[in-house]
Amino acid sequence: MLAVWIDHARRLGAEALAFLLAADCPGCDSPGSLLCPDCADALIARPVRRTTPGGVQVWAAHEFDSVVARCIRRVKEDGQTLLVPPLGAALRAALPQELDGALFVPVPTSRAAFRRRGYRVPEVLLRAAGRSPCRMLASTGARTDQRSLGRAARARNVRGSMRVRHPLLGPAGAGAVVIVDDVVTTGATIDEAARVLRQAGHRVLGAVALAATPSRSEHGVNG
Ligand SMILES: [Zn+2]
Repeated sequence: MLAVWIDHARRLGAEALAFLLAADCPGCDSPGSLLCPDCADALIARPVRRTTPGGVQVWAAHEFDSVVARCIRRVKEDGQTLLVPPLGAALRAALPQELDGALFVPVPTSRAAFRRRGYRVPEVLLRAAGRSPCRMLASTGARTDQRSLGRAARARNVRGSMRVRHPLLGPAGAGAVVIVDDVVTTGATIDEAARVLRQAGHRVLGAVALAATPSRSEHGVNG
């Protein structure tokens, strides 16, 4: 345990140093600051709600605008975990009281993504938001990269991509759960998570995310 912690601290130190040396704002690339005042301000939660095609209520800290999108990408692709605390604070501010007492279940991270990053993005965000993740969902590995896929193809691609690891985990066996993801786009991942959790007997109260793209229905046919 100690060895793991030391390794983590060392990695964080190297990362902090690299971050300071780079010294550009991860939100807008303006030089000379870790997170410029404008971008720090842009990360303050502006909670939005939407509903997935499958009817799951999503509470998100932000619409998927450029500063938030760039910061999440830095965490996901560039390993800039120093951005996790401000992002986690935004997520925390977006958690509604009605979800208190539920188990927070992150969508699973694929083995490949975990190997590449060394951490699970929904989990680190949730921890930074002051909640403990309940790792109840596991990836089955039956899923390909879906960034280039459209809405219908994503829904097909995600089907069967996860399973419930401990069907009876929870204070009183199956219970109320909240799905956690970093970004919600089409909602296909959330809907699949909800499907397998319900199949295992859980009550899905909704989902929380750092950012969500607006629903088409909320923003007209062109949005
Ligand atoms: Zn900036």
